[in-house]
Order: sequence, then structure tokens, then C-alpha cells
Amino acid sequence: MSVVVRMAPSPTGFLHIGNVRTFLFNWLFARHEGGQIRLRIENTDTAREVAEATDFIQDSLRWLGIDWDGDVTFQLDRMDDCRRVAEELVAAGKAYEDEGAIRFRMPDEGVTVWEDVVRGRVEVPNETIEDLVLVRSDGRPTYNFASPMEDVWDGITHVVRGADHISNTPKQIQLIQAVGADVPTYAHCPDVNGTDAKKLSKRHGAVGVDEFRNAGYLPEALMNFLALLGWAPDGETTIMSREVMVERFDLARVSPSPAQFDYAKLDWMNGVYLRALTPDEFAHALVLYLGEQGYEWDAQLVRAAAPLVQEKIAKLGEFPAFAGFLFHDVEPQELDGGVEVVDAAREALAQLEPFTADSIEAALRRVLERLGLKPRQGFQPIRIAVTGSKVSPGLFESIELLGREKTLARLSARAS
Ligand code: GLU
Repeated sequence: MSVVVRMAPSPTGFLHIGNVRTFLFNWLFARHEGGQIRLRIENTDTAREVAEATDFIQDSLRWLGIDWDGDVTFQLDRMDDCRRVAEELVAAGKAYEDEGAIRFRMPDEGVTVWEDVVRGRVEVPNETIEDLVLVRSDGRPTYNFASPMEDVWDGITHVVRGADHISNTPKQIQLIQAVGADVPTYAHCPDVNGTDAKKLSKRHGAVGVDEFRNAGYLPEALMNFLALLGWAPDGETTIMSREVMVERFDLARVSPSPAQFDYAKLDWMNGVYLRALTPDEFAHALVLYLGEQGYEWDAQLVRAAAPLVQEKIAKLGEFPAFAGFLFHDVEPQELDGGVEVVDAAREALAQLEPFTADSIEAALRRVLERLGLKPRQGFQPIRIAVTGSKVSPGLFESIELLGREKTLARLSARAS
């Protein structure tokens, strides 16, 4: 049997990273099995315009590297089909009208059972399930009706979704059985929590996929990190390429216990990915990222600065604060006793030839020696004057990139 799964986001214009993890599991499973994955927008509950949200969802998934098969479908396009089935269920005595709405009659006895790939056998006594509204009095089908019908019509073999949908599953199974269709296999993936064991929310940090993108995480690193939220190929492996993840993914190894979203681990992993890029790839990622974020900085200079920061930043988003002094003016800083060495540095650099990191370093070391200063005492005021900050990329390389004119101007400027 060929596997068909689906990603079914609601078009809210916000893609929670926990849902993205679940979409990733769908994608890894489908690609591992050589099956298909559909993208279906579940807009039954939203009256508002969905075009923008749909674009946003597709764009975010593509950025991460999650693709899908066939056209995007919209649940609301199947309103008429849903209403037709609801009427058939009424005609068959399986549903009834209730104040203008149509309700499904749940059995009062027995249990609804399924073998969940992640959680094992789940049993729900039918007497605890209330009669489900299929079509509201305004004619719109409900999510709990449209979603399983679409699963049937699309030939979905595996419903892989968040644990928050477990309570919907017995209702959906009852409906699928009532229309005489095959019930798909269900896999309910664990919640994604913060390290405090509470459901991941804005209180913990970024939660929207766009926030991670804007912060400068690499999609490959984020994907790797997300794959490990509830799944592990073994007890050890953490860094995995996309291909390896696809090859090794196993839905049956997804744990039912809540996963913990550890931001520090994500930063660590992103740093590993950044450092593993070739200098060219890193420079390219940086230029792309800055362009996307609206910085109109000279790409040539960004490329030249890239090697200075590759080992030092964990996210591309740290670049502007760390190396922005190369692209914009800096406020003159208090030099606290560093005036003498800064003046001497300006003199030493004024005529220096060639103006390269090596000769700059040699010239500045001579200045420190002459003034009897240790490197830390001597270089820090120069760094502060030139970069506007106590932390910066390598001082001599930075000065070379900044160029003589700007360097001398900054060494002359005084905080007033
Ligand atoms: N639209 C639902 C959600 O965003 C998904 C429903 C499903 O996967 O069945 O949570």
C-alpha cells in the first residue's frame, strides 16, 4: 500500500513551530516511504480571507525545505460535497436535524478503538462522545466533519497530527465508518513544551516559524532540530542531513512523551551548521539573509566580513550588532584613559603601507610596546573607538576592512 499523508494547517497567518514539527514528521514519513504528501488548508472555521495566510504557509514550508505533492486544496471548496454526505446520513437515519443544524448520532454503547502508531491502543467509551454537529445552521460544515471526509476522499492512509487532536479521533472514526470507508491509521505526535514542561508559547521565546527565520537560523539546522522533538534514530545521533533523516525516519519510533524545546540547544546546533558551511556558502547565506531582512549593505563588504564572523556567531541575526560598525557610523565612545593609545594608533596608521591586517597588527603592537601597555589594556580602547563596542570581530582584520579613512576618523572622534 502506498502511503498518502497530509499537512492540514488552519490559515491563521501564524505557523506555530510545534505544528511545523508535526508537518515535518508527515514529510519525513512520506518521503521515507516513497509516498505522497498533500497540503490542505483547513478553512472551515475561518470566515476571513485566506489567500495571504496560504501564501505565508507555503512560503514558510518551502523555506524549511518541506515540499508537497499536487495542488494545495481548500477545505471550504468541498462544502457542497460535505452537505450532500450530511443529507445522505440524515436519510440513512445516522444523522438528524437539530435547530437548523445537522447532527451525527453517536452510538451510545460500545467503544471506539484505534491502534495509534505513537501511543498504542486507544479506547474511548462511546457514551462519552456527544452527537457531533456536521453542518452548522448557516450551512457551513464543521472541522470535525470536513476533515475526516477529506481524509477519505483524498485516500489518506495515515493521519499524522498533534496530540491535541486525540479527542477528535473517535468522532472522526465513527463518521468514516458511517460512510462505509476505510479508517486511516492514526499517529498522534507528542506536544512540544518548553523546558519548564509547559506548552511552548510566546513566554518561552520565538514560536512562529517566521520568527526563527528572521532571527537567522539556517533552515537545515532548524529542520534537524525539529526532527528531534519527539523522534530519535538512536540514542546518540544529533546532527543529520536531510537525506539521512529521510532515510532513517520511523514513525513507530516517535515517542508519546512531550518533547522539550530547548532554545540553547537550537542555538548550539545552528552554530554547528554555520561553522560547517564553506566560507563561500556562509557568505552567501549571510548576504541572502541580510537582503531578506531589508539591510541594504554592500554585498561585497558583507562577503569580505563573513570570514571574520563565521566562527563567532550562532545565528545570522547576530551579524548586524556584531559587525554593523563596518556599514554604518558609530557614536564616539568614552575612552577612559585610552586617549593616549588611541592617538598613537592614529598616528601609526596614518601613513601605514600596506594597509593590511598583518601590517596593522605589527604597527599597533609597536605602539603598545612603546607605551608599555599589555595587549588587553592597549587594544581595548582602540577597539572601542573603531567599532563602538567592547566585543567585535578580529580588530586588525576589521580595521583593514573599514579602511584607513574611516578608521582614522573614528580614532580622532571624541565623546563629548
Ligand atoms: N487544522 C488542524 C490544526 O491546524 C489539523 C487537523 C488535522 O490534522 O486533522 O491543528
